[in-house]
Amino acid sequence: MKEIAIIGGGVAGMTAAVYALRANAKVTMFEQYGLGGLVATIDKIENFPSYQSVEGWKLAQDLAKQAKDLGLNVLRKKVVSLTRCEGGFAVDTGAEKYIFPAVVVATGTSHNKLGFENDYVGRGVSYCATCDGNFYKNRPVLVAGDGGVAVSEALYLADVCSHVYVAVSGGAFTAEAKAVSDLLSRDNVSALYNTRVTGIVGDGEVRGAQIYCGKALGTLDVDGIFVATGSKPVTDFIEIDGVLQKNGYLTVDARCQTSVKGLFAAGDVTDGTLKQIVTACSDGAKAGSFAAAYSATVDRN
Ligand SMILES: Cc1cc2nc3c(=O)[nH]c(=O)nc-3n(C[C@H](O)[C@H](O)[C@H](O)COP(=O)(O)OP(=O)(O)OC[C@H]3O[C@@H](n4cnc5c(N)ncnc54)[C@H](O)[C@@H]3O)c2cc1C
Repeated sequence: MKEIAIIGGGVAGMTAAVYALRANAKVTMFEQYGLGGLVATIDKIENFPSYQSVEGWKLAQDLAKQAKDLGLNVLRKKVVSLTRCEGGFAVDTGAEKYIFPAVVVATGTSHNKLGFENDYVGRGVSYCATCDGNFYKNRPVLVAGDGGVAVSEALYLADVCSHVYVAVSGGAFTAEAKAVSDLLSRDNVSALYNTRVTGIVGDGEVRGAQIYCGKALGTLDVDGIFVATGSKPVTDFIEIDGVLQKNGYLTVDARCQTSVKGLFAAGDVTDGTLKQIVTACSDGAKAGSFAAAYSATVDRN
């Protein structure tokens, strides 16, 4: 019998589920929140093949329906530990422990912090423009970051806010050229190069940002600070020797299997270089298919 667990219900996990279910496997998915992951928070996606433009929640909803219609069993639980055991792997949610012959880890990443913003999270500091951008309608904001996520956040905010400053730590953005030129063509966007955000000016609510620009310290009057300075993999619950890199990412082979047989990984949590929806889906397809096939080879008696 084929049976697998998938930890994480973003696009990587849901695609793994679709492929495993179509291969006749029984699939249990552990997802701490609702299905969708990061995709559900993206305003517009313009680089997913076959769609000129699609809203993130729509893509997430369609994929979730596809997987559920195939018979996906979703447990809305956070996995607190993943260990090896007789018969495969033990997935522990704190309250219960489950054993599976094969597991796909698709837990994505969590955003980096600036380091000094904790008191202002939800009081002017945000990590998600689509979620919180509307609170800053017609008000000035700052985005910290220079990659694709920072550009995408800034583009969303440019439609909503009076002015969007983008603090780019180096001399140039590291995002896709087309997205950067779209952003820089906006009248209400200013890119501040060689600029780091070093502190918050506030009285319980954000009133401004301290910035270090070139060799000078300065202050920007903004009502919101959106942090988009990269992310780290969510793998702290994995208690299996030798599968994590020093930076916490999971290394996988061409079948999306880790160095431990039966343990697969897909999407942003892997050390793949391009962290996008299409690559997460591609990983999910491989991990789901090969995990299902592997599970049939495990003697569970
Ligand atoms: C603002 C922004 C804009 C983007 N725009 C684009 C774009 O236009 N085009 C594009 O291709 N890509 C875009 N991306 C990248 C894309 O969203 C990601 O590459 C992709 O969604 C990764 O999917 P994933 O399934 O690997 O991870 P995620 O979507 O992060 O899903 C991981 C899931 O695992 C769950 N989870 C984590 N830990 C646990 C646990 N212990 N127990 C249970 N569940 C757990 C989480 O709750 C989450 O639902 C964007 C990203 C951001 C942040």
